[in-house]
Parts: sequence; C-alpha cells; structure tokens
Amino acid sequence: VEPDPQAGAAVKAADRAHVFHSWSAQGLIDPLAVAGAEGSYFWDYDGNRYLDFTSGLVYTNIGYQHPKVVAAIQEQAGKLATFAPAFAVDVRSEAARLIAERTPGDLDKIFFTNGGAEAVENAVRMARLHTGRHKVLSAFRSYHGATSTAINLTGDPRRWASDTGSAGVVRFWAPFLYRSPFYATTEAEESARALQHLEDTIAFEGPATIAAIILETVPGTAGIMTPPPGYLAGVREICDKYGIVFVLDEVMAGFGRTGKWFAAEHFDVVPDLMTFAKGVNSGYVPLGGVAINAEIAATFDKRPYPGGLTYSGHPLACAAAVATINVMADEKVVEHAAHLGENVLGPGLRELAERHPSVGEVRGMGVFWALDLVKNKETREPLVPYNAAGEANAPMAAFGAAAKKNGLWPFINMNRTHAVPACNASEAEVKEGLAALDAALSVADEHTA
Ligand code: PLP
Repeated sequence: VEPDPQAGAAVKAADRAHVFHSWSAQGLIDPLAVAGAEGSYFWDYDGNRYLDFTSGLVYTNIGYQHPKVVAAIQEQAGKLATFAPAFAVDVRSEAARLIAERTPGDLDKIFFTNGGAEAVENAVRMARLHTGRHKVLSAFRSYHGATSTAINLTGDPRRWASDTGSAGVVRFWAPFLYRSPFYATTEAEESARALQHLEDTIAFEGPATIAAIILETVPGTAGIMTPPPGYLAGVREICDKYGIVFVLDEVMAGFGRTGKWFAAEHFDVVPDLMTFAKGVNSGYVPLGGVAINAEIAATFDKRPYPGGLTYSGHPLACAAAVATINVMADEKVVEHAAHLGENVLGPGLRELAERHPSVGEVRGMGVFWALDLVKNKETREPLVPYNAAGEANAPMAAFGAAAKKNGLWPFINMNRTHAVPACNASEAEVKEGLAALDAALSVADEHTA
C-alpha cells in the first residue's frame, strides 16, 4: 500500500474535531490513523506496518478481514440486514446453536447482547431474579465492563471515578501466587487460602443475601492470572453450598484465546451463567451474550424475563458469529492457539524472561500471556507503581515506544505487557513478535535495579 501522509493527517484531524475517545483526556491523545488491516497486521498512512500483539482489545481472535467472515456479513446485509429481537431469524438461531453446542455443561440457552458489559449486566439481573437475593461478589483484580453494574463489579482503577455505588457489590481477593494477597508460597496454599477468604467473606456478608459470584475464568486485563488447580472447582462448591449463582466471565478468555473454546474447560468447571463477547465473532460486528443453564432458564419459562435490547441477536452480528465459529472449527483455530501457547509463544516468552532482568514472571496459556515487568526480580517490585501516570510511568512508556519502533503493537496495562496475538497467527508471526519484544525489553531492562 502506498503511503499517503496527507490522507492520514486529514483522518486524524477529522477524528480530533469530533470523536470523543474512551478512557482518555481528549486534549492529550494522539490516535494513530489506521489505513488498513489484514490478518495479524495493520498499517498507517505513513508506511508503517505493525504486528498486532493486542488483537485490538483482545478480540480479533481470527485476525483482521478474514475473507469468509467479511463475505458472510456482506451476504447477510444483502439478505436481511436487521430484524427485531422478538422474531425467529435463521441466522440468530444458528448462532445460538453453534454457541450452545460449545459452552460447557447445560449452558444451552443464549441471550444475546451487543457486547461484554451488557452481558454482565444481564447475567447479574438473571442471578438476582433467580435467587431473589441482591449482593454480587467480584474480584479486586478484574475487569467486567464500563456500564453501571459492570464497572462497579470491576476491580481495577477504571472503576474509581464511577464508584457511586452499585448497591450490593462486594469485592474479594482471588488467587494470584506471584503477588499473593495471602502470603502463600505454593499454588495449593494460595488456592486453599483464597477459598477460605471467599467463604469468610460470604459468612460475614450473609450467605442468604448473595445472588452471585462473578469471576473471569482467567482474569484478562487485570493480569492473566491462571487460577491455581482446585480454585474454580472450590468456588463452584461454595456456590452450591450457599445457593449462590456462579457466573464466569469469558468475554476475553472465551472463543479460543486459552487454546480451548472456553477457558472453563481447562478447569473442569461448569458455571450457572457464562458471559461472552469479543471472540464470538472477532468483533467484526458488535455481539455479546449470556449462556444460561437449564435451571436458571426455567425460572423464566412462565415468568417474563425483564430485560432486552433493541439489537439483541442482530442478524449482521449473528451472521458474523456463525461464519467465525465455522472458520474456527474448519481451520482448527482453537487447536492452533493451544499449539502456539505450548510450543512457540509460551517457551519463547519464558526464554525472554531468563535473559531479561525486567521480566519478573511469565504466565498464561494459548495466546493469552502476561509478562509481569519488575524493577527487581528478587523483590518483585513492579517496574512502575500501581496505576502510575506521567513521569512515574516513563519506563513502561519507553518499553511501548521501543516495541512500536520495532514494528510490534504491544498491549500494556500498568507494569505488564500482554502477548495476545490472534489465535490464528502463524508461527513466523509469533516469532517476529518475540524478536520485537526482545528488543523492547532491553529498554525496560535499563529501568531495573
Ligand atoms: N468482561 C471482560 C472479562 C472483559 O475483558 C471486557 C472487556 O474488555 C468486558 C467484560 C466488557 O466488554 P465490552 O467492552 O464489550 O463491554
């Protein structure tokens, strides 16, 4: 593609004139003008091409512009571009079937939303109505979306400004051995103590007041902390003991990211409700949803479900989901993600950790990995303080700039970089990304002591 800096400048000027961006001080941002994208890459108007190690916001699980999904959306647009949610529409039914066939256990009914936050809102609504209880427990190290209840369930600092109190939300500590809130030294200890802490929290909050516990199966933006063996099964047991609805949020971890269709499969647990979005159709058209088990679905057999959205199960989004899921099955994309994690990305990142003093820990699975960057491997002091901004965040900013200079678009959150390429990235692309990370980590190393 021919560079065209003038066109790029015009796109950016138009953006700055009228587009109000998420999570940003509008006067301080300088968004890159994107000219195009394909597969694992995107490019700007100045002749720079980037390997996308972020998958957008961790959602383009099949990369950009997959021809079969693009064609399916075009075909659906020509046939029936939209239709209201109260009707039976072939492509909506087919998307629900393909999803329900892959979700674990008896999660066989699908309520469609436009994205992850709405899925979380509706899962909480279902749990409250099903149990007749009000409180919802969530983990501090979590992200569940930016709408009212979802942002209050969220643990990370994006909640702070909106912490006007979604009534009934209670947060607890989930396991994270590398930075253990429980002074644990083994995974078994971490798991047992985290479960005890959860059960103590429930006892003091009043078990009969708690509708749901929501957890990301593998927390994403908060740091890709794979739960220790036994933890999620333990949460399942606690939920059963107290009649609490167990909600797993698979908005980020679902649809192949961990090398399984859903991360819950790694841990042999079946939640009562499961939220999804992102990878369900790689975000080609906005779509999310809640997979509902038989018991909760039955609650609404005779009693109306008091929730809905104009675009619930939008035909264009569902056509994209049907095509995406079929592509993932036909091209063995989920198996490929597992292979990359086991044989290319995981070993490659661990090798970087050995050589770079700034890498404190490597953790993850599939194409879902975090590098915890530190000032010092012994003390594990984060490379930048929690929620650092400006000068305090300079080491991470320098790391990010170095990655981009090397043609890699990095995912950065606080003191971490996440390696989250497309599930169908080639081995060569992953190796290219590892080489660019290697160079960028040398810049991070300069800030260690
Ligand atoms: N839940 C999890 C685990 C997420 O990672 C996200 C988004 O990153 C959400 C919910 C919110 O999804 P959305 O941004 O589509 O509302």
